[in-house]
Amino acid sequence: MTTERRVVRGLFLAAVATVVLLGPGVSTARALDPAALRALASASSGARNADPGVLLAHGPRDRMVIALTFDDGYDTPVCSALVDELMATATPATFFPNAVYVAGSPALWRHVAALGFPIGNHSTHHLMMTSLPFDRQFSEIVSDRLITDQVLGEPTLSVFRPPYGAWNQTTLAAAGAAGYPIVLNWDVTFADSSRRPNGSPWPTSSYVRAASRGTNGSVILGHCGSPIDLEALPGVIADYRSRGFTFVTVPELFGLPGARPMHFPTPPPSAMPPPRHIDPRRR
Ligand SMILES: [Zn+2]
Repeated sequence: MTTERRVVRGLFLAAVATVVLLGPGVSTARALDPAALRALASASSGARNADPGVLLAHGPRDRMVIALTFDDGYDTPVCSALVDELMATATPATFFPNAVYVAGSPALWRHVAALGFPIGNHSTHHLMMTSLPFDRQFSEIVSDRLITDQVLGEPTLSVFRPPYGAWNQTTLAAAGAAGYPIVLNWDVTFADSSRRPNGSPWPTSSYVRAASRGTNGSVILGHCGSPIDLEALPGVIADYRSRGFTFVTVPELFGLPGARPMHFPTPPPSAMPPPRHIDPRRR
C-alpha cells in the first residue's frame, strides 16, 4: 500500500468512526459538520497522486443492454413511486442520490438498497464541481460516501456521477483519490428539464421518445423525484423491451463488483428472448 493510499484509508476510518459515533438518528446538519469536512479536505492532499477516475458516458456497445440511472432524490413521494414502478415492471436500475437526500429520507433509501438496486455517489450537496478546488470536490465525494454508507449500513457503489454532469481534470483526480475509478455521465436523458415556451411540460410521449433514443450499452439519465420521469417511465421501459433490449444495473454494465440479485416479485420480462423481427438500428 502506498503512502497516499495509507493516508486515505486512515482518513476514511477516522471519518467513518466520527459518523458512526453520531448514531442511527444522525441529523443532516450534524453529519455534515463543516469542521469535520474541513479536516477531511485538508488531509486529502496526501491522496492527490492516486490514479484519476476515468470518465465514461455509456457501456460496451456489443450487447443489447440499457442502464437506467436516477439521480438526486429531491422529492421523496415521487422518488418512492418511481421505485414502485421499477419493482412492478421488474426493471433493474441504479440510483445516484445526494447524501443530503439520503440522510433526509433514510427509510426510503434503505428500502431501495434492500430491494437490490445499486446506489452510487452523486456528491453530498449537488454543487457545481467545476467551480470548486480539489479539496472541496474531494470532500463532497468522500462525505457523500460516509453519510450514505452509514444510513444504509452497507457500502455503496464506487461510481461517481458529478452533479449536472459537470467535470474537469480536478474532478477526475478528486474521484480517483476518493476511491472512485469510474466517473459516469450518460449518453441519453429523459430531457426532464425541457419545457414548452410557456413553461408547461411537453406531452409525456415527448419525454418517452427522448429517453428511448438509447442503443447498445446506453446509460439513461433520469431523476428520482421528477414527476415527468415517473410518468414517462412505463413507456420507456415498454419501448426498450419491445425492441429486444434488457435492462441492467451499472455494475452489471461495466462488470464491477457490487452487482447483486434484484428482489423482484416476478421474473423480469427482459429474461424472455427478444422478438426477432425488430432491428434496433432502424430507429
Ligand atoms: Zn443531480
